[in-house]
Amino acid sequence: MRVTGTVQGVGFRPFVYRLARELGLTGYVLNDDRGVLLEAEGGRSKVDAFLTRLAIDAPPLATVERVSPEEVEPTGASGFEIAASRRGGTPLALVSPDVATCAACLLEMADPRDRRYRYPFTNCTDCGPRFTIVRDVPYDRPLTTMAEFEMCGLCRAEYGDPSDRRFHAQPNACPKCGPTLTLLEPGGESVGADDPLAAAAEALRGGAVLAVKGLGGYHLACRAGDEVACAALRSRKHREDKPFALMAANLPAARELVELTASEEALLLGSERPIVVARRRPDAPVAHSVAPGSPDLGVMLPYTPLHHLLLAEVGETLVMTSGNLSDEPIAYDDAEALRRLSSIADLLLVHDRPIHVRADDSVVRSLGDLREAPLMLRRSRGYAPASISLPVDASRAVLACGAELKSTFCLARGRRAWVSHHIGDLKNYETLRSFEEGVAHFERLFAVSPEVVVCDLHPDYLSTRYALAREGVETMAVQHHHAHLAACLAEHGEQGPAVGAIYDGTGYGEDGTVWGGELLFGDIASYERAGSLSPVPMPGGERAVLEPWRMACSWLIAAGHDRPSAPSALAEAVSPERWEQVAALARSGFGSPSTSSMGRLFDAVSALCGLRSTVTYEGQAAIELEAAAGAGFEGEPYSLPVRDAGERLELDARETVCAVARDLARGAGTALVAARFHAAVAVATAEACTRIAAARGTDLVVLSGGVFNNRLLVERTFALLEGRGLRVLLPALLPAGDGGISYGQAAAAAARLAGSRLPT
Ligand code: ZN
Ligand code: ZN
Ligand code: FE
Repeated sequence: MRVTGTVQGVGFRPFVYRLARELGLTGYVLNDDRGVLLEAEGGRSKVDAFLTRLAIDAPPLATVERVSPEEVEPTGASGFEIAASRRGGTPLALVSPDVATCAACLLEMADPRDRRYRYPFTNCTDCGPRFTIVRDVPYDRPLTTMAEFEMCGLCRAEYGDPSDRRFHAQPNACPKCGPTLTLLEPGGESVGADDPLAAAAEALRGGAVLAVKGLGGYHLACRAGDEVACAALRSRKHREDKPFALMAANLPAARELVELTASEEALLLGSERPIVVARRRPDAPVAHSVAPGSPDLGVMLPYTPLHHLLLAEVGETLVMTSGNLSDEPIAYDDAEALRRLSSIADLLLVHDRPIHVRADDSVVRSLGDLREAPLMLRRSRGYAPASISLPVDASRAVLACGAELKSTFCLARGRRAWVSHHIGDLKNYETLRSFEEGVAHFERLFAVSPEVVVCDLHPDYLSTRYALAREGVETMAVQHHHAHLAACLAEHGEQGPAVGAIYDGTGYGEDGTVWGGELLFGDIASYERAGSLSPVPMPGGERAVLEPWRMACSWLIAAGHDRPSAPSALAEAVSPERWEQVAALARSGFGSPSTSSMGRLFDAVSALCGLRSTVTYEGQAAIELEAAAGAGFEGEPYSLPVRDAGERLELDARETVCAVARDLARGAGTALVAARFHAAVAVATAEACTRIAAARGTDLVVLSGGVFNNRLLVERTFALLEGRGLRVLLPALLPAGDGGISYGQAAAAAARLAGSRLPT
């Protein structure tokens, strides 16, 4: 039998072994580069029972996609054995994501009589590092970063004993033979601590900033309740406002930080262990500097033995933010971490198991009652590189290069797509390098040699340049917002056609302007632009992204205020001279590309409300506007007309902006203005989608793009559309933001390839 799916590194062979022994079958099982191959010899009924149970009783982390049996001549084998892995041919074996420490391992670590008592690298077949330590396939110890560690007698015995929980657990280790911790000074000298963990915990309790080597990279940690330490970390990291993630020791500790629903608790406890963004409790014992201006906190639970031990030893919630300077990718290489983090951390808690692939923590946000699956804000450690299926066959091997911010790439072949871990902002040289290395690694792991390379339409994205520089391949371009639409359709197994309301910050339009408030009608292969937000100039181009007040000025002018006065809320942040300069730019259009971006409209309203005149991270102005609106919808939606503009619909937000300015001038509260604005966008979106759907004869609507990370907007729009009898899809497995673009590009390419083979 040939078994395919996620069947390596998940205890599948021992499971087969035990099942065969139980049924009295003889034969063998082995890992090869296509998955698992096995022979089972015995009576017909026993073999049939074996076949049935193979898929049903598979271990929890395994995903059996297909069992292909074939009859062969009996060999008369006397027993059942786990045979040596085989290489050669075309690898198809799937590398599983990293898995949080399991309950059985935690019990051993807590037991003073156990040989793994307090051992920070304890793992077993059900848990531990996977993707981040795999150098090549098949998944066997010599091809992981555990190759350097030779197992001691006891570990080897476990590894070889099919009845043991650590049978063929590739990263198996113990204090005698496995990785060890060291506590370093920022210069790289060992502190010489007998118990590095206890010494690190002591330093944290004393207010230190500690760099900790984790699973997919380094974190920077300090006590979450320690304002001095948190403020120091923030200034050393050059991170102005973006919230720090927290790690709580356990669920009760997490409940003291944030309000948690049952589904949020399940997310926290899941083996993927993402950061869960949830509503902060008013009395949360957290320093101001952890998340200034944010009504939410990002919380996760420990996912490695080291985290469990450290949290228990410190006895308090820790900040656990990525180990980097602002905008750089997270450090994962030891020498590099020492170089980059020594100016931030007071001490470094390191170990000698190399990290092969950098993987950031994943971030999710619950959608409450709307649906069980959360919004995936960042899909990385714990989720990548699990494959996602495609609704059409990619008849040729595809590499999709994604966009630029929050970038990922995607390989696809047949019905399977592998979306990479979070790579980050490709404007950074380091990130570009990790993008290129990542592509090469994935091509090896999944044995995909791309024949078709897909990129965004934007000529200046480094991902586009990379795609165009690849030799010997066919290149294909997919418009940014179409990729968002295709991604959401495809992950739900749909091909369209559908109406897509695709709202984000920036995407290169077919007409060369900046799109971002798009109403598309299309399927996964192609689309038409059925409508958009009314365009306005972006005064000063990219600077308007960092300075939302410029968009406020531009929108006021578009709305007919020829010489708008700066709103009082902005008076402190912007001098009258600068305001007038920018107003002049907006009026003349000089150096001010036209944009239909919904993200920029949210920026403008946020600035008008006095929430953000400038931002320090992407989406900040909109996030604070959503926060200001609170959870409920009070007040009437502002008017936001949907007009016929020739062939297309136009969401005309000029009246909306006027109403916002008027309300604020009359002294209306920010909460009310923000809520009425959200409602206006939801109502107009629902109306536009309904009209397009009716005109085109579809009942399917997709909401995607980073603006739909806004829960308030999603909930309202979703409810309105459903109320009109439309079926609404939201991204679930992948981010609504640009982390989902690469998969959408791959889906579009697969569909176009399939289409191109049809007889003409
Ligand atoms: Zn375990
Ligand atoms: Zn050992
Ligand atoms: Fe986008």
